[in-house]
Amino acid sequence: MSKREITESIKAAYLPVVMKKLKTVNRRAAQLGVTGLTLDASDPYPVSYRDEHGFRRTYQALDVTVSGEDVRLAGWGLRGVVDLSHSEPMFRMVPGFDAPEIAKSDAGRCDHCNKVRTRAQTYILEHEDGRGMLVGRSCMKDFLGVASPESLYWWMGAWGRIEDMFNDEPRPSGGDIAWELTEVLNVAASMIRIFGWVSAGRARAEDGIATKQRVGEYLQGGGDTLRNLKDEAARRGALLEILDVDRKVGPLAIAWLRMQSESDFIHNCRVLANDEFCRDRDLGLACAIVGCYHAAQARESEETSRRENGAGSEYVGTVKTRKIFIDLTVISKRRIDSDFGTSTLITFADPGGNQLVWFCSGYEPDEMVEGATLDVRATVKRHSEFRGVKQTSITRATVVKTQHLPRTEEEAGA
Ligand SMILES: [Zn+2]
Repeated sequence: MSKREITESIKAAYLPVVMKKLKTVNRRAAQLGVTGLTLDASDPYPVSYRDEHGFRRTYQALDVTVSGEDVRLAGWGLRGVVDLSHSEPMFRMVPGFDAPEIAKSDAGRCDHCNKVRTRAQTYILEHEDGRGMLVGRSCMKDFLGVASPESLYWWMGAWGRIEDMFNDEPRPSGGDIAWELTEVLNVAASMIRIFGWVSAGRARAEDGIATKQRVGEYLQGGGDTLRNLKDEAARRGALLEILDVDRKVGPLAIAWLRMQSESDFIHNCRVLANDEFCRDRDLGLACAIVGCYHAAQARESEETSRRENGAGSEYVGTVKTRKIFIDLTVISKRRIDSDFGTSTLITFADPGGNQLVWFCSGYEPDEMVEGATLDVRATVKRHSEFRGVKQTSITRATVVKTQHLPRTEEEAGA
């Protein structure tokens, strides 16, 4: 017998079902004393497609190869068995085939030896070229070298069952399929922008609707669900849509997450970010990423504006004393033209939010660009208030160490 192989791409989640069916087939093969089927599975790989709502979805698939002995001999395949032990012929056909007329009217004949005699069984064979043949049980060995036509019949059915199994594979659905994480985060950003961030806990406590739920509805929503969401957004004076500003959130939130220090929550978020896909049960976590990212952004911008405004600024250093100021961030640089020439007013903030200013009219260190963080050696000239902010004026500033330079426009755009 030659080898026969079927290779199919199946959903990874379907593999256990395939293995179980194969086990049943092989148990029967062992009883019949024939070699069973073997299964090879490739490593899983992601398959992407756009769902009916236009979202990119992914699921894990793998290639499965089932191989075994071929049941076609010299081009002949078994189609069924005619049982002649009753008053009329009875047929056991391989699934998908009907008994031919000849087997009904002349079932006792054998096209191999051309003898008509009383037989228990006749086998219905069909050639690849379409020819048909009835062969008596005892002639099967002579004609095709098959000692046990019964196992041949069974094999036909087994292959049919394997093929059916692949055809019956449920379409990817539910928990097996994931969304692309950035898409989920973008939708979450949009829902949060329109409806505000509502954690699952707050939704329970206040009988409200969690962000997670809205995101799920938006992603999976059919007509009614989407219409309801749209109406609700309209009542808040917003359009239900994903804007460019939302689309920026996904990648930024993922980048932000990768810089956070470890906690169980951050760990889980980061796993999600690295996998870049999101299943049903991950929706809550995905929405929380956007919620936390927004909160961190808000904290950061509040901190920045607080520093820029000089709120809480105190005097530092001692007048007429030279010292090294650690981690001064250049907040702004302003050109000032006067009768005495051009100078630059450089405003710094130290890590405590205290403001330092330098009227620089001579050499200006290259590193002193906005956003740079530097260790600076300077002499305190005076302590004075400017528009209600306590400022420490410094002179003869030099850079001792560069802690951080902002990326140039070119790099930032790359
Ligand atoms: Zn015969």
